[in-house]
Amino acid sequence: MSEAAPESGRRPLRQRLKRGCLGCGGLLVGVALGGAWFGSTLIDRALNRALVRPPYTASEQATALHAKILVADLHADSLMWDRDLLEEHTHGLVDLPRLVKGNVALQVFTMPTRHPLSNKQQGNPADSPDMIAPLVWLNGWPSEARQPLFARAEHMSMRFADAVERSGGGLVPVRTQGELAAFLELRETQPQAVAGILGVEGGHCLDGKLENLDALFALGVRTFGPTHFFDNRLGGSAHGESLAGLTDFGREVIAKLDELGMIVDLSHASPALIEDVLALTSRPVLVSHTGVQGTQPGPRNLSDAQLKAIAAHDGLIGIAFFEPALPAATVEEVVRAIRHTANLVGVERVALGSDFDGSVRCPVDVSGLVKITEALLEDGFTPDQVERIMGRNAVDFFARALPD
Ligand SMILES: [Zn+2]
Repeated sequence: MSEAAPESGRRPLRQRLKRGCLGCGGLLVGVALGGAWFGSTLIDRALNRALVRPPYTASEQATALHAKILVADLHADSLMWDRDLLEEHTHGLVDLPRLVKGNVALQVFTMPTRHPLSNKQQGNPADSPDMIAPLVWLNGWPSEARQPLFARAEHMSMRFADAVERSGGGLVPVRTQGELAAFLELRETQPQAVAGILGVEGGHCLDGKLENLDALFALGVRTFGPTHFFDNRLGGSAHGESLAGLTDFGREVIAKLDELGMIVDLSHASPALIEDVLALTSRPVLVSHTGVQGTQPGPRNLSDAQLKAIAAHDGLIGIAFFEPALPAATVEEVVRAIRHTANLVGVERVALGSDFDGSVRCPVDVSGLVKITEALLEDGFTPDQVERIMGRNAVDFFARALPD
């Protein structure tokens, strides 16, 4: 992505991405920066883990199939962590070298901006202290990127733009149907190119201002989750106190998303909010990362009725890789949730929505997606169905849901 037009008075991208000062001067700053780096990396290392470590091997049939298909994943929170996307790491779950090793063609990079300390699956109070605030401080983000919440999303977008710029064509931003078509053509001659689509997780990053949606669009953001782990000004979260539907402001936001051609991501939405969005929008909807109640009951996961309603709305359902979306974070449970969804609403409605780097433990990191291909084949999906689930469905979805 080229550098987004800075607001007047804003520093240029390069300067803005510099680490912020943590407070004192001289040696103390060095100690603080070192400690902050260590703390942030330690948290990243502890929270974002692959239960089976690379390198990954699979059957001959799975390896051959995986090498020739377009692989896509609908949800990774990698931009939140103090990790250079272009360097291969031994911690965390996604970076460009590992995307290439996993033969990933398209990755959605999603940006959470606030997370309640209460961290419950149900009943998080909206005023619970924010866990992302200390993380961005530990990450050393510049002070102007720490508050308000919109600034955090803007900073993560800038980090993505910076990675794109430095990648020499290895990481390609996709914001329109035309850019997606061009990327697919490019990938025929450059099979290591990876497309990135930006998304936000939680409409609280608008800070209550509808005009911030235009700004997110200008930054290249294309998927938008109205709520995350708590109720906000747009409506109710599946993990909040009210379980409410859309507020008046939430309705305005959905109408504006439709107008801009942005995609609503119904992950984390309360059941009432899902119903409200489906009644309001005529555009395709996304669930970027979810489990299904058919294999794991609970408020985090979609019921069969919700899966049917979303599929009937030209929706795409990304199956997540972690507990408690799954009964266990194993490749077999990912496939069981995919099987349940495919049997219920059709193979063409299912995709991968790992939630890599979302403070979760996953069965593999992104370089190990061949293990999902292998397990899908073992479960009896045909090579054509595996190709759809592993990425073709996602690519087709964005080909019709992105703006022109
Ligand atoms: Zn999430």
